[in-house]
Amino acid sequence: MRRIWIILICMILCLGTAACAAEPEEAAAGWPEPIQEEPAASPAATPASTQSPAPVPTPTPDPTLKSGVESEAVKALQQRLGELGYLDIDEYTTKFGPATERAVRLFQRQNGLAEDGVAGEDTLARIYADDAKECTLPLLGVKIGLDPGHQRKGNSEQEAVAPGSSVTKNKVTSGADGRNTGTPEYQVNLDVALKLRDLLEENGAEVVMTHETADVDISNQERAKIMNDAGVDLALRLHCDGVDDSSVSGAMMLIPAGEHAEGFEQQSRAAGEAVFAAYLEATGARDRGIIARDDQTGFNWSTVPICNIEMGCLSNGDEEALLISDEYQNRCAQGLLNGIAGYFTN
Ligand SMILES: [Zn+2]
Repeated sequence: MRRIWIILICMILCLGTAACAAEPEEAAAGWPEPIQEEPAASPAATPASTQSPAPVPTPTPDPTLKSGVESEAVKALQQRLGELGYLDIDEYTTKFGPATERAVRLFQRQNGLAEDGVAGEDTLARIYADDAKECTLPLLGVKIGLDPGHQRKGNSEQEAVAPGSSVTKNKVTSGADGRNTGTPEYQVNLDVALKLRDLLEENGAEVVMTHETADVDISNQERAKIMNDAGVDLALRLHCDGVDDSSVSGAMMLIPAGEHAEGFEQQSRAAGEAVFAAYLEATGARDRGIIARDDQTGFNWSTVPICNIEMGCLSNGDEEALLISDEYQNRCAQGLLNGIAGYFTN
């Protein structure tokens, strides 16, 4: 009996202890929770979290180099483009200017990349690749001036035909008109010049144009001065003929002669011969010869090698049809390009 009592007393004690031990757990479960959870549930309520926002993952620095950027990376880029033959400047600098942009464009064009003149990630990767393609442009470093003859409206005001001369001519005449369609000469000249500009640039040349739209008023004297100021290696004036005899067709090359051509007469003749031969070959136009002239305002005010292609006769119906066609104009431009490239690479 006594033993049973002891067991009973022990059981009662054990139950009581268990009840006491359980009490804190129950209390803990229902009491401090809100305080502990508050910061996690509402970070905005904690001043510390607004003062120290979670750091944004740092992106890789943008390697893009473009016009206006100034850095050592630009200098390295110039050096690399120079090694590959796309850039020809006297001294490498840290400035991304027009020459660098032009070199980047050339690289992009020759390597099938979108041509935007911006050295972004893709372009840079290709430029610095071990097997980067070297430049193969025949006219790199050559500056060509193009003067599409005439403009929408002629200007009959007078200007001296040569420096120091009292002889004057119209500032700019309106040019010939197509015999059958009346297509104005300035339109054909401009169309071919723009095509030639693109071809020249594709081949690495820097191109200076007196104008790229017909709605200008630039005298022949001013056109020559634009070329002089730009220091072009060769200026090419593009014209078509209009003659009284409508049976006459064919192309002609005019080159400068006389006292005002001193210093660049031989170069002008050599360039004129090369360009004319290639033009005739590409177009099949009849050869009306190379004529030296000392009465051309556009020649006499020039200080750089210059020549003047008369691409054909708009006064001849058949030749007019050719001259106003896109396909023939492409051949004209290609022939002129071939001649210019031949002259500068031989
Ligand atoms: Zn003309």
